[in-house]
Amino acid sequence: MSNSSSGWILAGACALALSTTTACDSKSEAPASKSPPVPEKPVAPLVPKKEVADWCGEHGVPESICTRCNSALIADFKKKNDWCAKHDLPESQSLKCHPELEAKLKSMAPK
Ligand SMILES: [Zn+2]
Ligand SMILES: [Zn+2]
Repeated sequence: MSNSSSGWILAGACALALSTTTACDSKSEAPASKSPPVPEKPVAPLVPKKEVADWCGEHGVPESICTRCNSALIADFKKKNDWCAKHDLPESQSLKCHPELEAKLKSMAPK
């Protein structure tokens, strides 16, 4: 009987395959020039609005509704049922019928 002892030296070849896979997927986070939302500025009128005094000093009412200066307005007032036939004035301007309007109109008058 022959004892054949075979000694196997397992040379553990520690082949540490250091796979340094430097994947070039570096996310280049470029500073996105994201401008913050600019609040909308109210568009300034090119021509500054002139302060037009809408006032008829002669009749003590706003010029734009002065029927005595602009008789074309009369029809409008009549249509709106705002007409005092007695005084030939819009009811809303007839101080004789509505003396309380005087204070209101005076407050509207340009200083
Ligand atoms: Zn007038
Ligand atoms: Zn009246």
